[in-house]
Amino acid sequence: MTENNKHKKSALQVKKGVEQPSTINVKAVKEFMHKKHDILPVEKYIDGILSNNRTILSQAITLIESSLPKHQEIAQQIIKKCLPHSGNSIRVGVTGVPGVGKSMFIEALGKHITNFNRKLAVLAIDPSSERSKGSILGDKTRMEELSVDENAFIRPSPSAGSLGGVARKTREIIIICEAAGFDTIFIETVGVGQSETAVHSMVDFFLLLMLAGAGDELQGIKRGIIEISDAIFINKADGDNIEKAHFAKNEFQNALHLFPPAESKWTAVTDICSSLTKNGIYRIWETILKYETFTKQNGYFFKKRKKQENYRMFETIDQSLKDKFYHNPEIQKLLLEAEKDIQNNNISSYVAAQKMLDFYFRKINN
Ligand code: GDP
Repeated sequence: MTENNKHKKSALQVKKGVEQPSTINVKAVKEFMHKKHDILPVEKYIDGILSNNRTILSQAITLIESSLPKHQEIAQQIIKKCLPHSGNSIRVGVTGVPGVGKSMFIEALGKHITNFNRKLAVLAIDPSSERSKGSILGDKTRMEELSVDENAFIRPSPSAGSLGGVARKTREIIIICEAAGFDTIFIETVGVGQSETAVHSMVDFFLLLMLAGAGDELQGIKRGIIEISDAIFINKADGDNIEKAHFAKNEFQNALHLFPPAESKWTAVTDICSSLTKNGIYRIWETILKYETFTKQNGYFFKKRKKQENYRMFETIDQSLKDKFYHNPEIQKLLLEAEKDIQNNNISSYVAAQKMLDFYFRKINN
């Protein structure tokens, strides 16, 4: 196979000058392709997912993550059939800067809840992973106990793709994990960029982990993140750190009073915890359950999910308009020419963009 053909056949091709479409979890897709898995009939995936067959579930996730049109077509059929079986879980977002202890925390909280038979799926959104070579969940050994727990399913972080693409696919993965019977979904993300807003738009409960003794500016946490958090736990509250953790907790509690009341009417909880000593781990689970009961009683829980569904629709439209545009062979040619023209100062970038959009929409309207 020539180098050229190889790229044509690859799901992972990068077109020059075009933002890479949402090809994610490169490693898993490569492995999948390498093993030449036959694609199963859709019904087999559904049967496998509904009977919690982890191998089939993983394969279906790989199809969702693939950008090959053939894979996407089957993935969408799988999602459609899983939809009626989805929704029956509590979706929890966990964020905090690298090093705050997210992996260890998820392991501790995860073990706590799988002990009383909750079925937990752990997913991750990590837009930085391409740069840092998979900083979250890339390495399963970081959750040693949970990764061998039969009540838990850990999916390593997707390792490439735009945040929008990764987020959309994560939501689709949530659907099939729920159909597979997982009643608790944790979505881990690094709390330093836009990814937590994306995660917030797909979870019921948003948990922020912080450290004692460092201001929020130091921890790279934006005010907006604190504002959307349903609970803030000061982590690593063990040994000499306990007193500082209490102090930080009180500071956050005072700061939270300054924010306007949330639409959920829920008052964000501040507390301390340690994954090392397990101090406070059960309290975070109690908080999550309390939140679930509270927002289900006041109607916010399902209102928020409906809003998220609408958001998802608009996001899907955005994404597919973009994909169709960039995958159009004529546009791809025009883009290359436009790039040269812009560099040679023959045309402004705005006019070039407008011309291509006009061309595209005239074309599809004829
Ligand atoms: P992440 O980058 O947020 O996922 O953080 P990790 O879970 O990898 O933890 C970062 C470091 O903090 C590791 O060296 C952990 O051993 C340590 N750590 C995590 N949780 C705790 C805790 O509760 N107490 C203490 N003392 N150390 C912790």
